[in-house]
Amino acid sequence: MMNRRAAIVLLVVGGWLAQPSAAVAQTIIIKAARLIDGRGGPPLEPAMVRVAGERIAEVGSTIAVPAGATVIDLGSATLLPGLIDLHTHLTDRDDVHWEAALTTTTPPEAALWGARNARVTLMAGFTTCRDMGPTWPYVDVELRKAIDAGAVPGPRMLVAGNYVSSTGGAGDARQFSIYLDVPLVRTLADGPEEIVKAVRTNFKYGADFIKILATGAVLSKGITPGAQQYSDAEIQAAVTEATRWGRPVAAHAHGAEGIKAAIRAGVRTIDHGSYLDDEAVALLKQHPTTFYVPTLALGSYIQESTTVPESEKARGRVVNEIAVGGFKRALAANLPIGLATDAPVMPHGLNAREIEYRVLLGEPPMHAIVAATSLNAEILGMQDRIGAVTAGKLADLIAVPANPLTAIGTLRDVRFVMKGGTVFKDELSPRK
Ligand SMILES: [Zn+2]
Repeated sequence: MMNRRAAIVLLVVGGWLAQPSAAVAQTIIIKAARLIDGRGGPPLEPAMVRVAGERIAEVGSTIAVPAGATVIDLGSATLLPGLIDLHTHLTDRDDVHWEAALTTTTPPEAALWGARNARVTLMAGFTTCRDMGPTWPYVDVELRKAIDAGAVPGPRMLVAGNYVSSTGGAGDARQFSIYLDVPLVRTLADGPEEIVKAVRTNFKYGADFIKILATGAVLSKGITPGAQQYSDAEIQAAVTEATRWGRPVAAHAHGAEGIKAAIRAGVRTIDHGSYLDDEAVALLKQHPTTFYVPTLALGSYIQESTTVPESEKARGRVVNEIAVGGFKRALAANLPIGLATDAPVMPHGLNAREIEYRVLLGEPPMHAIVAATSLNAEILGMQDRIGAVTAGKLADLIAVPANPLTAIGTLRDVRFVMKGGTVFKDELSPRK
């Protein structure tokens, strides 16, 4: 509390000055054996980073330590930018199927578990998450506000608010008895007019972007994952309206036709993108503002789950095998490939498994690290603030004990986390 009050006082004082934070910001010097800065160049060894307030002020092998600076010595660790996950559901639990959650859980429960999952995700080194929609609409907006206000620890969040899905489609969670309804949940929109209304409603209630379900899904009783569920005109209606608001659309899309329709409509991301074929790869090359964002490591977690029905596990087995083929096709074509997990389909906090799995599938470690940092930042349109350890960026920094270029699994062992210049975790430095 004292710290937050002090920060507010500084902000007020800063308001009176011509150059606000520079004169008053707290200075922290971080030292580590190595820095991978997120841009793909060779590591800097050794590395020092000067943090002033919430931003990175200077990066080098040896930099001057200003009087009064706090020095955090991370020893033999490797420093990296905070990792970014483009597809999470932080307010959903690992151990409850999202459809069942509508009849067995409550929105306050989702908020509390969301706070828990946000903390776990931040402590795992993910300092930014694009959250792809809660089971209970708009709980994600409240979680984002609570994190931004400093009430609970968590990643910077960009939130969808509420799925935009067709009746009987992948986002139609109310696929139980027709005599049962959940009046709080209004996720469905059919036809361009209803979709425009859904887009406007989401932005009214605080969404940062639109999540549209262009095809069926694995964890759903609706239309099959390979099938396109929204027409070309419906997807276009979502993109046209969101564009008026200056905000992007993320399309959940497994099937090839849905992928292509979404690319042509101008969505920002193709999430999952499982049935990515050569034509889709060529289309992505023609539309450089649309990015492929696969979710690959979740396959084995679906098979091990105790809450996913066998019918959906069967869908998962088919789709995952095809999805791995799509990823290898994209890799061979040298497409930029965003990094995402779909947690809690894999448990919250294990997000770095996706990076590890992609390396196992043949992606070079540096390429996968760039995907999780500077490329993901570019996909979010936040490359001016996050995704790299360079002067001027927000001080989102993590450290792992080994060198991920030779031991990628070390990314699951994050020992130091700083977000916006505030240390949230430090199990490395001797200063305690
Ligand atoms: Zn998802």
